[in-house]
Amino acid sequence: MRGSESQVVCDSCGRRVPRSKGIVYEKMVKYGTEPNSLSNVRFMTRRKVYYCISCAKHRGIFEKKAREAERHSANKFE
Ligand SMILES: [Zn+2]
Repeated sequence: MRGSESQVVCDSCGRRVPRSKGIVYEKMVKYGTEPNSLSNVRFMTRRKVYYCISCAKHRGIFEKKAREAERHSANKFE
């Protein structure tokens, strides 16, 4: 039996995927944007979420990540 690998839950569809196959995405979450709030202070926080590959592809995260990785490896050669 397998299952020693920890699983993560896709933030979009709720499907469980092995962590190695999940796409990590840092989502920006805003707080304090209520219109009746007196202060104009906004809090931004990053929340790490996981997406399965199909959801990541659907949202364009997967390709962005791939492009970033490509650029990263390209920089290594310089
Ligand atoms: Zn999903």
